[in-house]
Amino acid sequence: MSSTLDFDIRLSERRRSTAEREAILADPGWGQYFTDHMITIRYAEGKGWHDARLEPYGPLALDPASQVLHYSQELFEGLKAYRQADGAIVTFRPYANAARMNRSARRMAMPEIPEELFVRSLELLVETDRDWVPTREGHSLYLRPFMFATTRALGVNSPADEYLFVVIASPSGNYYAKGIRPVSVWLSQDYTRAAPGGTGEAKTGGNYAASFAGQAQAVAHGCDQVVWLDAIEHRWVEEVGSMNLVFVYGSGADARLLTPALTGTLLPGITRDSLLKLAPDLGIPVEEGKISIDEWQTGCESGEITEVFGCGTAAVISPVGSVKGADRAWTIGDGEPGPVSMRLREELIGIQYGNRPDPYGWVH
Ligand code: PMP
Repeated sequence: MSSTLDFDIRLSERRRSTAEREAILADPGWGQYFTDHMITIRYAEGKGWHDARLEPYGPLALDPASQVLHYSQELFEGLKAYRQADGAIVTFRPYANAARMNRSARRMAMPEIPEELFVRSLELLVETDRDWVPTREGHSLYLRPFMFATTRALGVNSPADEYLFVVIASPSGNYYAKGIRPVSVWLSQDYTRAAPGGTGEAKTGGNYAASFAGQAQAVAHGCDQVVWLDAIEHRWVEEVGSMNLVFVYGSGADARLLTPALTGTLLPGITRDSLLKLAPDLGIPVEEGKISIDEWQTGCESGEITEVFGCGTAAVISPVGSVKGADRAWTIGDGEPGPVSMRLREELIGIQYGNRPDPYGWVH
């Protein structure tokens, strides 16, 4: 299967003017505006990946019987392009996203895409729409590769044999434009995100559709985000919203991290993976393990757990300030962002924006 497909380049005749673009970049929000172009690549069984295009951003025509609309054979990725201090435009660990997309594809019985083709798609879109990569501090161009089943058939006994891979790009503002504000979280006992043997470790739309009711419940209880517990015992902590969770034990030179192990029901976050490598190099040991809600609560009450944060591409590191459940509530530390969370955040953002050396070769 070719990873050196030639792209058919079809430039938009309706590119936004500099003034229009700059008005959007002044306050891009998150996921609301899209650049002038997109990538599309088709897949058919027997033919492989073909018909690669860079084309004007716009609606896709779909047959109403397309399998994705009925059986949700879909998956997606998310990463960012950054404009670094010296003007270079880079992405962060795009091959890790390519590898995760292919792991998701195997779980969803979908075709894998050659990693080089995936990364070339990102490069081509970012090169073409480079003026959309924000210059402001903390802003970036969010890249959203996704793939779904286009086969026209309602038969549910087999996966589709035709797919469309698409990449779109959306300028994104600073997640914490008004300063870092710790989130409050709700312990969901009514809903679970993922069960053993299910699709929790795949980045597929259905996991997110299934999470909205839990998120709405968190908001109804006055919380920002929902904490997902394991589906069997409802007591092991897995993720928060769409982030992985990290617990900080101790402080100063004795600080160490614990993050729930990848049991198959968690999304293997690339931010999580980066912190697993970065923290030990900063002298902060990391353990992948198990933590229950009781251990979380008693650990905070005894002072053993000093900080907790969510981590993911969008917010990088998002401190958790307080926890609430049906029969309990507690605060983490003094409820303010802690020094270990903030240090890790600075270091990671420093690598992404080119203000720190990148000994890992993460910047592409
Ligand atoms: N968990 C879930 C459920 C997510 O959707 C995400 C966002 N992709 C993450 C964790 C964090 O992953 P990453 O660090 O790769 O953004």
